[in-house]
Amino acid sequence: MIRFENVDKWFGTLQVLAGISGEVRRGEVKVLVGPSGSGKSTLIRTVTRLETIQGGRVLVDDADIASRSVDINRLRQRVGFVFQAYNLFPHLSALGNITLGLTKLRGLSKAAARERAMEELARVGLTEKADEMPGLLSGGQKQRVAIARSLAMDPQVMLFDEPTSALDAEMVGEVLAAMKRLAAGGMTMICVTHEIGFAREVADEIWFMEAGKLIERGSPVELASRQAGSRLGAFLRKVG
Ligand code: ADP
Ligand code: MG
Repeated sequence: MIRFENVDKWFGTLQVLAGISGEVRRGEVKVLVGPSGSGKSTLIRTVTRLETIQGGRVLVDDADIASRSVDINRLRQRVGFVFQAYNLFPHLSALGNITLGLTKLRGLSKAAARERAMEELARVGLTEKADEMPGLLSGGQKQRVAIARSLAMDPQVMLFDEPTSALDAEMVGEVLAAMKRLAAGGMTMICVTHEIGFAREVADEIWFMEAGKLIERGSPVELASRQAGSRLGAFLRKVG
């Protein structure tokens, strides 16, 4: 589904991704962890060409996303992205935030878009908030609307960049629950998160980045049994 092949990324003279290789198969959930500044956000942003790369290749469904034949707008519909900040349109209701893409990008009628949006709101448990404006929603509710908005576009892959790190503690659980349901439903996902309980529960594999390199990876079970020298093991023990 997604393949990173020797990806190099520079910001000026600073190399932030150094020879990253890795693969995400259909239905897999990878959790990306590592210290702040290690390149996690940059790596997942390369998937939808929010960041260009200077070396290597990123493939989505076997197509090199840098190729001229890849329609970047279609790619961004196929790959859902949920960020730390909710990025909802403040002047549109929860429902309006979801129907916008469906009518403008997908060409659905207003009625069909509304029906689809209500399905997605139900999936994240927000049916009763459909007509609420974002300013009146809690952080957790806003983030669930953002997830519903992405899902309405029928993405083949979902990328999450620290979706709960701006939330008050009591709202983290509801967003993680929505993500867990998504994973259980077979969605292909890459999640940058420090929620190690979530990682242990849903990750097929945890990837540990440091200073632009993917230095260790393994399933939660493998990692639990990995000995003391493991950087990832030490990191997980610290944040867990
Ligand atoms: P992480 O998500 O792991 O915290 P990032 O991918 O955000 O790390 O950042 C990796 C490195 O790239 C950091 O050193 C950061 O300062 C740098 N960086 C990120 N975005 C930019 C940018 N737009 N311009 C210059 N440097 C950047
Ligand atoms: Mg980041």
